[in-house]
Amino acid sequence: MTLTDGGGPLHLDADELVACVACGLCLPHCPTYRATGHEIASPRGRIAAMRLVEIEGAPIDDAFTTAMNECVQCRGCEAACPSSVQFGHLMEDTRAALRAAPSTESFARRAAEWIGYRLVLPRHALLLAVTWVAWLAQRVRALPRRLGLPKLSARSLRTPIDAPVGGEPSAWVFTGCVMDAWLRDTHRSTVTLMRAAGIDVARPGTGGDCCGALHLHAGRTREARRLAWRVMRSMPGDAPIVVNSAGCGAAMKDYGRLIGTAAAERFSARVRDFSEWLGEQAPLPLRATGETLVVQDPCHLRHVQRAHGAVRRVLAPAYALVETDDDGLCCGAGGVYALLQPELSSEIRARKVAALRRAAPDPVVVSANPGCIVHLRQAGVDVRHPADLLAAALQEDPHG
Ligand code: SF4
Ligand code: SF4
Repeated sequence: MTLTDGGGPLHLDADELVACVACGLCLPHCPTYRATGHEIASPRGRIAAMRLVEIEGAPIDDAFTTAMNECVQCRGCEAACPSSVQFGHLMEDTRAALRAAPSTESFARRAAEWIGYRLVLPRHALLLAVTWVAWLAQRVRALPRRLGLPKLSARSLRTPIDAPVGGEPSAWVFTGCVMDAWLRDTHRSTVTLMRAAGIDVARPGTGGDCCGALHLHAGRTREARRLAWRVMRSMPGDAPIVVNSAGCGAAMKDYGRLIGTAAAERFSARVRDFSEWLGEQAPLPLRATGETLVVQDPCHLRHVQRAHGAVRRVLAPAYALVETDDDGLCCGAGGVYALLQPELSSEIRARKVAALRRAAPDPVVVSANPGCIVHLRQAGVDVRHPADLLAAALQEDPHG
């Protein structure tokens, strides 16, 4: 329970809950409100529903659960809110309370979640084994597209990242779970750039398999805490922790709140988004490529870490950058949201793709989050990570 527990079944912080003055300024920034036009699918509507349940004793019914599950947890509302309502925390706590209630999900769904969250994500060797099976299934065209996996590469999977594990480096590169299995070349580019910046870099030791961000989104708070402890132990010392996944970085910067100890606060203070960290180093020797990129801000970089300006600063010496006109609206990826809410997710993505194509008819898009990259690539958009783009612009051979 929090210090100012609202006293109801959601265990929400009452101060955060009543901070909303129902002004509605967040509504245009909410992708589910924009897609549906329904008040209950807006941040204001969701907060009103939370208050009814938490303070006025309304039941947790299907309509309430649906409204909470349809939230992408993009936190666009939080960045737009003049009253500084901490919507992300309210939603994380609500999801945790819903998860603690007796489940109405099918056995198959609960089994799939148990396998994903409890078995595979925290065990990297198992995740890699599953990824090899998925690679094989892709080769024989037996993997349904709706599962959303990117095109997997055997070369990338069998080649470890060229950086030592553990030790006392000048900076850590956090490799994590899905990103290391599916987009490992981006880790290679990140290490190349960190070395080009003169940094002695290492990968996490035992336990650095998964930051718990996906677990937090799903309301699996206890599991997220356990994973956070393991991640903290995997990168001891004071060196900065460089994270090239916006969703993971946002979660790791919030370990202080999740765990509630001074050690966790100190750990969180060491976490840097890759572009944020690179922008604090001496400039790299980049060539001007003459290429143009459309910038897509991952929500967890823009609305949560508020570090989206760094992406522009580090890319500007090498690329011309074009902005979209949608004020950073979410793309609908949201962790496993695209799997759980396929229709809404597709509708939200269609709006984002339209905004990207208004910015440039056949865009090359830059995005600093693996979830957004994979989700937008599925819609046929050419999306790349800033680390890969910068490695390609390095005056030396990036993987030489
Ligand atoms: S969450 Fe903030 S912006 Fe949205 S209605 Fe409440 S006070 Fe207004
Ligand atoms: S987190 Fe995103 S989807 Fe959820 S209410 Fe806020 S703006 Fe809407």
